[in-house]
Amino acid sequence: MRETERIGSLKGIGEKTEQLFNRVGVKNVGDILRYYPRGFEIFDDPVPIGSVEEGRVSTVAGSVFRRIQVSGNQRMRVTALYLKDLTGTLKVVWFRMPFLRNTLGKGGVIILRGRVVRKKEGLVMEHPEIYYPAIKYEEKLHTMQPVYPLTAGLTNNAVIKAVRQAISCVRVKTDILPEEMSVKYHFMPYEEAVRNMHFPEDKEYFAAARERFVFEEFLVFILSLRRLKETENRAKNSFIFADQEKIGKFLKALPYRLTDAQMKVWNEIKADMQGEHVMSRLVQGDVGSGKTVVAFLALLLSGLNGYQGALMAPTEVLARQHYENISDMLKDYNLPLKAELLTGSMTAAQKRSAYERIQSGEASIIIGTHALIQEKAVYKELALVVTDEQHRFGVRQREALAGKGTMPHILVMSATPIPRTLAIILYGDLDISVIDEMPKNRLPIKNCVVDTGYREKAYAFMKKQVAQGHQCYVICPMVEESESLDAENVMDYSQTLQEEMGDTVRVGYLHGKMKQKEKDEIMDAFGRNEIQILVSTTVVEVGIDVPNATVIMIENAERFGLAQLHQLRGRVGRGKHQSYCIFMSASKSDETKERLDILNHSNDGFFIAGEDLRLRGPGDLFGIRQSGILDFKVADVFQDAKTLKAASEEAGEILKDDPELEQPCHLELKKHIDSRIQKIMLETTL
Ligand code: ADP
Ligand code: MG
Repeated sequence: MRETERIGSLKGIGEKTEQLFNRVGVKNVGDILRYYPRGFEIFDDPVPIGSVEEGRVSTVAGSVFRRIQVSGNQRMRVTALYLKDLTGTLKVVWFRMPFLRNTLGKGGVIILRGRVVRKKEGLVMEHPEIYYPAIKYEEKLHTMQPVYPLTAGLTNNAVIKAVRQAISCVRVKTDILPEEMSVKYHFMPYEEAVRNMHFPEDKEYFAAARERFVFEEFLVFILSLRRLKETENRAKNSFIFADQEKIGKFLKALPYRLTDAQMKVWNEIKADMQGEHVMSRLVQGDVGSGKTVVAFLALLLSGLNGYQGALMAPTEVLARQHYENISDMLKDYNLPLKAELLTGSMTAAQKRSAYERIQSGEASIIIGTHALIQEKAVYKELALVVTDEQHRFGVRQREALAGKGTMPHILVMSATPIPRTLAIILYGDLDISVIDEMPKNRLPIKNCVVDTGYREKAYAFMKKQVAQGHQCYVICPMVEESESLDAENVMDYSQTLQEEMGDTVRVGYLHGKMKQKEKDEIMDAFGRNEIQILVSTTVVEVGIDVPNATVIMIENAERFGLAQLHQLRGRVGRGKHQSYCIFMSASKSDETKERLDILNHSNDGFFIAGEDLRLRGPGDLFGIRQSGILDFKVADVFQDAKTLKAASEEAGEILKDDPELEQPCHLELKKHIDSRIQKIMLETTL
């Protein structure tokens, strides 16, 4: 079987499953070989029930004690049982699986594996996997089971099966690394490496397999950038941006003065837009450093000169927030431009009239999600494209933007701090601006790291803040990678919290499974302070700006990465009021403590990124996966900095010997580079 064959040609994959695979980007059997797990489950021996800990995934063995109960309503049946061994009993619940009462009621030892959380009644294991009879667990004991990214309807088992089949019957393609190089770096042979990316014998095998693909990815990427730079001269600037008096007036009228850093970056952008070539500039600035107003200035300059500018945000909530801010600013400062919103959840009629205003040129600042790049959106004269929170966009979402304008200027805003040295290797010829200063009116956020015993006090503290007119976020613990369970968790939690807070405080919730309209309503209500406490999953992480919010409490903080925690924390401390971040964690491990300690003592994103790198080091198997321009499947620019450097040096050697990549040993490599170049062009020329 060849790699290009449809995924549906594997045994056992019907039309429906094929569609699910397509949804996660797996089209052919080659894709599935490269559909890597996001982690592994390591199956350990069961632990005594008396010793299970909150927040952990554990395996327990025992027998059912008392009756198995099914409660709840039609929509949400909850099955509960008590599992008992010599050391204690543990409550276990499942959602929407009422039939378990019959299957598990037959006696004998059951093995359960799941996460233990703390509820009012004590520790509860939620929605565990079931091994019954217990002997079934033995096959898995001490193995590493891949855990794949999924979508609703696609199970981990289905992916495992498909990968197994693909590995055994796909004729593996030619190695893309020249043999010489594989020998020099002792890389695992390609075929063996593929297998070990999915089903490693142990951690060492996995690390060795991963190393190979990391190197390969970096090498292809760097070679692509270098070749691109040599062949492509930057496109000429075909737009004329005259200085605009109105912009100066706007800056004077703003209630605050731009920081020196904002001013510096704005001047760099302006110089680019008025320069000889088309701009492609990355603006990096920590959360809250004020990137939006800088983007707005660029959009103003293009609009006032009679062109269109587009701002693309990664979520609808964020797009709408930008739209409202920008519309308000246009109105408040008497600027004669029209902003337009375009998002996927708008009705067909709303979209149609938006398209009309975009095509006619009546709208000059167009804000939206990736709906901006849909076929039907036709621009009159698109001169500037801004993407916000760039790292959230995947390649596919941006591909369609190619050809929307004739070589518009590109501005990319990112809150992910990348050390400058890395940025220079990675971004090649993309110019970089850094907003390295916070607005002056800010008080540094006060942090604390506490255990769950502090929860009551935290609630009391939030109540007090609300009484003073402020608002709070609570980030709800994540449930094992299942969106629907996350949703239930958020709803449960907000209900409990509402009871705790009493009638004078309104608690709302937000999660990824809600309809866009509901999300908008909740965000609006929160923005107007009609909701005082917002319980949410990490959907609030990106860019939301409610300056009146002063407290963020993050439950199960140990489950998030440092960078993500920093982003979450950035939701507060955005106004002039003293703000607080409460990291709540039940974990007592030293590693967790050290990680949270870093956040506790620093609010500086660049410093945190550096520490993140130091801490995770090469020992950590999985880093954060970058996306956007840094669209790597396995490689991580922080964690694999050393490999990046090696690949960069090898790339130099290769180009010195064989600049056109014509030698036979570089043929396969060249194929990959060419397709990668295409992708990069689509991304950066939009
Ligand atoms: P981010 O860089 O995270 O996107 P925003 O652009 O959303 O940050 O800005 C955060 C908040 O700071 C906004 O409410 C904005 O109005 C405000 N702000 C931006 N620049 C300044 C400044 N120079 N002085 C005071 N407040 C500012
Ligand atoms: Mg922002």
